[in-house]
Amino acid sequence: MEHYSQRVRNSILPLSIGDTLPKAFEEWSVTENVVDHETPQETCELCGQESLRYHFEIRNSLNRNTIWVGSQCILRFGLSVFENGRVLSSEDAKKKISRIMDQLRQDACLRALERVAEAEDDSEILTIALNYFKKNKYLSPKQAFVVLWRLNKHRIDHSPSFFKIDLKHDRSKAQLREMELSRVRVLWPALSSSQREIAIRYGHTPPPA
Ligand SMILES: [Zn+2]
Repeated sequence: MEHYSQRVRNSILPLSIGDTLPKAFEEWSVTENVVDHETPQETCELCGQESLRYHFEIRNSLNRNTIWVGSQCILRFGLSVFENGRVLSSEDAKKKISRIMDQLRQDACLRALERVAEAEDDSEILTIALNYFKKNKYLSPKQAFVVLWRLNKHRIDHSPSFFKIDLKHDRSKAQLREMELSRVRVLWPALSSSQREIAIRYGHTPPPA
């Protein structure tokens, strides 16, 4: 057990029933509670890693003790991650954790955009786009331009994949077809590969690499 640090032993054994680390870790699983602290200021209560932004709660199934840990420790120590009442394989656990992190980042990105919308005078289009996105989980090309342009302008942490763009409806297709190239290029990172092909068919060209 050389690879476990003394810090990990001291954190988890007093809170567990099992007297060895492998036995103790079997007792712990990830709960539904996840917190985004907005800034990297938290510490993993298991390994002591600092500067964590996201905290996952883990609970001991035998004595109900709980602590807050970083996502890496969940995977590193193979703590149980449940979905629909069954324990996920380590590969699926990894996927689920990264899905949760993506969702947290997307939520944070939306909160940041809402603050922008509140602070700007002419932000009606942005407010409408945000409400539309929350309801439908996608944006029209025009709305996506407004959102992505603001994200870039205010340097808000985001992944272009957070915002799905609708190209199924005729109105959305028309918006993309008629859009100025400079705006299409703002949208470009958020377009899927098949949507990029459609854009090229409409006569647009990809941004220079
Ligand atoms: Zn840790």
